[in-house]
Amino acid sequence: MPPSDAPPVRARAAALRRWFDTAAEAPVESGDGRRVDWLRALPFVGLHLACLGVFWVGVSPTALIVAAALYAIRLFAITGFYHRYFSHRTFRTSRAVQFAFALIGASSVQRGPLWWAAHHRSHHRHADTPADPHSPREGFWWSHIGWFLTRERFRTDLTRVPDLAGYPELRWLDRYDTAVPVALAAALWVAGALLERYAPALGVSGGQLLVWGFFVSTVVLFHVTVTINSLAHRYGRRRYDTADDSRNNLWLALLTFGEGWHNNHHFFPGSARQGFRWWEIDTTWYGLRLLALLGLIRDLKPVPDWVLARGRR
Ligand SMILES: [Zn+2]
Ligand SMILES: [Zn+2]
Repeated sequence: MPPSDAPPVRARAAALRRWFDTAAEAPVESGDGRRVDWLRALPFVGLHLACLGVFWVGVSPTALIVAAALYAIRLFAITGFYHRYFSHRTFRTSRAVQFAFALIGASSVQRGPLWWAAHHRSHHRHADTPADPHSPREGFWWSHIGWFLTRERFRTDLTRVPDLAGYPELRWLDRYDTAVPVALAAALWVAGALLERYAPALGVSGGQLLVWGFFVSTVVLFHVTVTINSLAHRYGRRRYDTADDSRNNLWLALLTFGEGWHNNHHFFPGSARQGFRWWEIDTTWYGLRLLALLGLIRDLKPVPDWVLARGRR
């Protein structure tokens, strides 16, 4: 059967199965891999719509603190581990710590660690060429969110992450990439319901912690993360003449815990640090230094002197 003739029912059933199991077999797909796979993306759309729940559940200081804390902890797991550890191997750690932060990262609804690292390595290799998964040369919305929802970017190319593919626990997180987010959402709902019952003065409910702590926090975290794909290749200064369009941008660096020093990073991705100068605020780097002090990670790769000397300012 020619690929484009896959029965629609079978194709739809496969899209639904892949909500829960990314290894579920897909019918042979035709050449429109760059179109958004709306059926599979439905939960992601729902994630955004669920933020409207704030009008029903109300708000409390506790809900805002939980949302902010989950934003910060999960952003750090994405920047420090999904990015600087899994994608670029800029420091070393134990298997237990590796798994712990992979788990926190997986709760961010940005797919599993292998998927994330494989696509990110592809980005560095092909940055701002037609083979780049998310270059803003193809439009803001494509680089920000479109690429993430297409068929051609659904699979994890394990040949790009041979160093990670040997860990069954990471493979599991990658395959069942909705399991951890669903568990977090459920835990927040239960915690909120318990607080409502035993600490009613806080004004919290299950629905409130679910909406603020999971939906709002996750959606903000997602859009902040992908500004590095969309905005940090457009707006800011270029210290290094890299072949791509990457920029250094203080505002994005503040928002993303240091990832806004993106021109630095494209010039030399091998350092655990992305703010190369002392005034380039890099919160992830401070967090990694703290983890190293605590003995949880080690061998943080520095910025070599020749890299500093090559920079314009
Ligand atoms: Zn980039
Ligand atoms: Zn990178």
